[in-house]
Amino acid sequence: MISVSDARSALLQLTQQMEVEHVPLAQAAGRVLAQEVSARRDQPPFSASAMDGYAVNAAEVELHAMFQVIGEAAAGHLFVGKLQAGPAVRSFTGAPVPQGADFVVIQEDVGRKKDLITILNQPGTSTKIRPLGGDFRQGQALTAPRVLRPADVALLASMNIPEVPVRRRPVVALISTGDELVMPGDTPGPDQIIASNTFGLKAMLDESGADTRILPIAKDKISSLRMAFSLATTADLVVTIGGASVGDHDLVAQVAADLGMERSFYKVAMRPGKPLMAGRMDGIPMVGLPGNPVSAMVCGHIFLLPMIRNMLGLGIAPKQIATAHLTHALAANGPREHYMRAEVIEDEISVFYNQDSSLLTVLSSANALLVRPPNDPARQAGEPLGYLPI
Ligand code: AMP
Ligand code: MG
Repeated sequence: MISVSDARSALLQLTQQMEVEHVPLAQAAGRVLAQEVSARRDQPPFSASAMDGYAVNAAEVELHAMFQVIGEAAAGHLFVGKLQAGPAVRSFTGAPVPQGADFVVIQEDVGRKKDLITILNQPGTSTKIRPLGGDFRQGQALTAPRVLRPADVALLASMNIPEVPVRRRPVVALISTGDELVMPGDTPGPDQIIASNTFGLKAMLDESGADTRILPIAKDKISSLRMAFSLATTADLVVTIGGASVGDHDLVAQVAADLGMERSFYKVAMRPGKPLMAGRMDGIPMVGLPGNPVSAMVCGHIFLLPMIRNMLGLGIAPKQIATAHLTHALAANGPREHYMRAEVIEDEISVFYNQDSSLLTVLSSANALLVRPPNDPARQAGEPLGYLPI
């Protein structure tokens, strides 16, 4: 049995970074920017009026000053010509500031009679002009790697980048194993349950940037498992669920070995999730998760998400451990690292009474996994302990 951190290191060693692909900007949100990209132009590309008003020469701006309006500049319609001393140009937000002007008197500060305006309010010192390149200059970079947020997509658009270099999303093949499993919506027999882990894991992995495919459920039969593996040969990561312990019907390890899996490890000193196996099959990393729903999901958080991050070039930093104060006492932990389903409210954490690894209602109510290191001593109410937000 190896430790959680050794298991994680071994799993990361199995993964490699995905290649770069280019996607249209409209599909770039949530993807991982793979290479630094540079602005193709200045923004704004001209000094621009920030308000509706009148563009004038700053030196002439004072209370009661009068100007003749000799033209108009609107967004998308520049004023052709150069402003000499004396006149003003009607100017709207987003319009290029006419040559020769360096101040916009906002329309609220002005009285107008025909083509004559008079400054009626103290115009202040702000020029109401957005300077050329005030947002970014041509060549300015958006650095990589980063997960592209909506604001990044807007920035890339503004930089005139229509296609974005991103890491290909790793394809994960998920194989549920068990004669007792049917798909949601199917009619289960009297001895059957609905496959749930596959759907929870797909949601988790896709949210982190993977492209997860749910394969047909494999029966607890060698031929069925072989068939399932044969459907997964184009994946970047194969994940099996269930059938990984030592029962008579737990055939994943045997079939994987028959198919040439080079085993990296089997069994991790953790709760839940001890019967975890990993290795490489035909060059593809393979992870065998335990079948209990909570075990599978916890192992997804602790092991699969760092693998996906690594494949996306995001580095291996696991989710930050946060700290909260226990609301109650806890007994000493045993020799395995324990990820206890818990609820954090503000800076207090309460562990759910029932930690059975089959209870999805408890996991669904939890927003944290309290991390208990091996042999962690008994803890008192009020002690600060580390947890993983989930
Ligand atoms: P196993 O690891 O195959 O012994 O499965 C352990 C427990 O998890 C059993 O009660 C299985 O019925 C259950 N189980 C296995 N796979 C799944 C799945 N995909 N969805 C829900 N429960 C599962
Ligand atoms: Mg099973």
